[in-house]
Amino acid sequence: MSRNALVLFSGGQDSTTCLADALSRYSHVETLGFDYGQRHRIEIEVRRTVLARLRESFPQWAARLGDDHLLDARVLGQVGTSALTQDVAFAMQADGLPNTFVPGRNLLFLTLAGALAYRRGLDVLVIGVCETDYSGYPDCRDNTIKAMQLALSLGLERPLAIETPLMWIDKAQTWALAHRLGGDALVRLIVQETHTCYEGNHTLRHPWGYGCGTCAACQLRARGWEGYKRDSPNPRSQESPAP
Ligand code: ZN
Repeated sequence: MSRNALVLFSGGQDSTTCLADALSRYSHVETLGFDYGQRHRIEIEVRRTVLARLRESFPQWAARLGDDHLLDARVLGQVGTSALTQDVAFAMQADGLPNTFVPGRNLLFLTLAGALAYRRGLDVLVIGVCETDYSGYPDCRDNTIKAMQLALSLGLERPLAIETPLMWIDKAQTWALAHRLGGDALVRLIVQETHTCYEGNHTLRHPWGYGCGTCAACQLRARGWEGYKRDSPNPRSQESPAP
C-alpha cells in the first residue's frame, strides 16, 4: 500500500480538494506547483495562502503535509502563446479547442512530477483533471492520464500510480467531496482562499469565491456551487466526518 503522495497543486478549487483527499488517505503528502509564466501571478500567491490555512485549520492534516515545491515551466511560453500566458482574448481555435489550451502542459507537468516523485521517494501522483465538465482539453482525458502512468512507470523503472479523484465527478460533486472531507471549514476555506478565474480577478467576491464572474472558469465554478447548494440545501445536516 502506497503511503506517500505528490499532489499537483495550483491553488485552485480542484487541486485543493485533491490535496485534502490525499491528506485524508496518505501519511505523507508533498505539493508541487508550476510557474509557466501565467498571466496572473495571483495563482502563484494563493498557493501559499491555501497551504497555510490548511495547516492552521486542520492540525491532523498539517502533520502529514510535507514540502511544497515550485518548478519553473516557463519553457512552455517559448513554445507558443495561449490565452493563459499572453494578454489575448479568449476564443475558440479552428480545431475546436479553446485558446486557453496550452499544448503539452499536463504532459510536461506529469513528467516533471514523476521525476520529482522519483527523487523524493513518492509513489503516487495526484492530479485534479476531470472529463466530466472540462473544456475539451485532450490532456485531461482518462486515457491520456493512464498512458502517462504507463510511460512514467516504464521510463522511471518504478511503479508510479497517477490518481485522478475528480475524473468522473462534476463541479457540484467536487464541492460535496470537499464537504465530506473537511466539513464546512474546508468548504469555507476553498471559497475564500482558492483562485480559479482565468482573468486573475481576485477582488470581486461571490458566494462561491473570488473571480470576474463571467469567464469560462468562473461560470463553471458558479454553476457547480449552485448545483451543490441545490443538492444540499442544509449541508450541516449531512454527515460531517472529522478530517
Ligand atoms: Zn473569471
